[in-house]
Amino acid sequence: MSLLEVENLRTAYRTGGKTFYAVDGVSFEVKENETVGLVGESGCGKSTLGKTVVRLIDPAEGAIRLEGRDIAGLDDAGMLPMRRQVQMVFQDPYASLNPRQTVWKMLETPLKVHGISSAAERRRILTEIGEKIGFPPEMLKRHPHEFSGGQRQRIGIARALILNPRLIVCDEPVSALDLSIQAQILNLLVDLKRDYGLSFLFISHDLSVVRYFSDRVLVMYLGKIVESADHATLWREPRHPYTRALLSSVPAMDPGKKITTRLSGEIGGATPATGCRFRARCPIAEARCAETAPALRTLPDGNAVACHLA
Ligand code: SF4
Ligand code: MG
Repeated sequence: MSLLEVENLRTAYRTGGKTFYAVDGVSFEVKENETVGLVGESGCGKSTLGKTVVRLIDPAEGAIRLEGRDIAGLDDAGMLPMRRQVQMVFQDPYASLNPRQTVWKMLETPLKVHGISSAAERRRILTEIGEKIGFPPEMLKRHPHEFSGGQRQRIGIARALILNPRLIVCDEPVSALDLSIQAQILNLLVDLKRDYGLSFLFISHDLSVVRYFSDRVLVMYLGKIVESADHATLWREPRHPYTRALLSSVPAMDPGKKITTRLSGEIGGATPATGCRFRARCPIAEARCAETAPALRTLPDGNAVACHLA
């Protein structure tokens, strides 16, 4: 069963009287106990998509169904009970932690807000979550500045876990960390997924990180999903020229395989009014690519691609 179903989602920013859709008609689902990676260059709209899914940003159009219930139109009061179901882990743990609060207090507050009135029960939950992230209770009595970057990200993960959610959206959770610490955090997420039966939407610009972690991968370009593929297919047989270009920039992934596409140019600020959004950078673009935008087509194997020539 689908835990999350996103349908035709659009998220708008208004600048200088103009409306820009950072997320422009996106549909996908996340099944129970599944990790879906969301990859693309910075500026492609993936963080906006993640924040819209957890309703930190309001969508302009579309549906966000969590266990069948559409949360796209809920106000803050309506979202409160849904916060137990869906949580977010951010890139910069320090910026997302209150420096004046002990970690214990910070983790305890949502439990109080959500009606866990027994202090003994809150202590039990905090101790258990502390154990999961490798912190004994006395460590939780410290302030965020007393922790290293990797430890702070553990705290960010504990905060996301504290209400026992079904889905966690992770936005570049290891990008700010040293390589050795990245592996520890990714391993922790794998363990937590198993122990709590979690599902993840895992956002990263780094395909090697997404590769490690995801059952399925969505590739995003200028506000749209251009490819959706299961783990094995994506690495064996990437279909969209953009995906092939992203893969070719991942070092030493598959030394035996030749993927020759190279990306030139930068992700555009201006979205072309007609045709394929990738065409200015696409090495195999044809005349029709300027005329008609390719729709995301589902293929016989269940994967999907938005390219006339795929
Ligand atoms: Fe390239 Fe055309 Fe495919 Fe777009 S539709 S990715 S421009 S070949
Ligand atoms: Mg981002």
